[in-house]
Amino acid sequence: MKRPLIAGNWKMNLNRTQAITLAASVAQEAVHWPTVHVALCPPAVYLDVVGQVLRNSPVALGGQNAHWETAGAYTGELSPSMLVDVGCVFVILGHSERRQYFGETDEVVNRKVKAALEAGLRPIVCLGETLQQREADQTQQVIRTQFEGSLADLSLDEIRQVVLAYEPVWAIGTGKVATPQQAEEVHALLRQLLQQRYNEATARAVIIQYGGSVKPENAAELLSQPNVDGALVGGASLKAQDFMRIVAAAHAAVEDA
Ligand code: PEP
Repeated sequence: MKRPLIAGNWKMNLNRTQAITLAASVAQEAVHWPTVHVALCPPAVYLDVVGQVLRNSPVALGGQNAHWETAGAYTGELSPSMLVDVGCVFVILGHSERRQYFGETDEVVNRKVKAALEAGLRPIVCLGETLQQREADQTQQVIRTQFEGSLADLSLDEIRQVVLAYEPVWAIGTGKVATPQQAEEVHALLRQLLQQRYNEATARAVIIQYGGSVKPENAAELLSQPNVDGALVGGASLKAQDFMRIVAAAHAAVEDA
């Protein structure tokens, strides 16, 4: 099994003191789980200070969004190079909340992915169907379309830097988790799409995370699926103890593989 990636998406939560305290706890605990790659994605305004807390720890820093331009008149936006400047390694792109509330299309996500790669960031690209689409049996088609659009024109070297996160929209922040079988089915499809467009070795190398109400109680089963290489965690990443139990479950999955 590849080294799994467990990333915490703090979304628009916590204040400065809470962010520092949470990052320090995760950094302290993460040294016990070297088999797992751990990342934290705090709100942009806390990236710098959380980056300082994580310095000299095994925990990576990630942004929650970035613009596609390197600089310019884009009030309120952040460029990929600014994220690199404060120590980011990862950036979440195309999260369903960005797609749903801020109108991000696959084309926009693709521009952002290319800009992030150009700046040296590893994009965590989110894909997933709504409940309506799942009930209409459109999951596979939606995933194919998002894959083709969000990841258009990426070279083999570039796709190897990308992390995919399958996040069924109906499972995000709802407490409704995909069954391990539902997750595995979509992850296997993504692996197949990677193989068709690139090659088998590349398809195997790309990290595919599951996201959507991952909790300490369901993490082990999800992470034991053959094509699930980690988790993107929202709510449960806001408590160090819960988040580290998910990291521990990822470690156990590596040991069992
Ligand atoms: C997310 O924000 O990417 C997410 C999966 O959230 P939650 O774990 O709260 O469902």
